[in-house]
Amino acid sequence: VVDVFSKKRRSEVMSRIRSTNTRPEKAVRAMLHKMGLRFRLHGDLPGKPDIVMKRHKTVVEVFGCFFHRHLGCKLVSTPASNVRFWQAKFRRNVERDKANRKALRRMGWRTVVVWECELRKPERLERRLRKAFGLGDR
Ligand SMILES: [Zn+2]
Repeated sequence: VVDVFSKKRRSEVMSRIRSTNTRPEKAVRAMLHKMGLRFRLHGDLPGKPDIVMKRHKTVVEVFGCFFHRHLGCKLVSTPASNVRFWQAKFRRNVERDKANRKALRRMGWRTVVVWECELRKPERLERRLRKAFGLGDR
């Protein structure tokens, strides 16, 4: 892939991309759709989950490993400068995720988290999701 943007232009473009419509999220949506699952986007539920499956009373959250701190993941690092700022930010993210999951659980909803790194092995991810939704192997 040729990088058509200059560094400055790229950061402008990136800053305009909303975190609600990321490439990993689109890939997961396409995968679920292919599996025959139907869903809505950003339902009116705690944390405005990415993908809402009413029939399964399940939300699917697609998390970036870095910002949501995927435990033990290679994509997780802490920037060398502004360490305290980043640590506080990461802590807030993780706590927010936890609180949302808890609130959803109290309402009878299940949360399935898909980590960004899992998209590197789509067959494996698809198997996991088929299992999570009781679809069995193909
Ligand atoms: Zn990861």
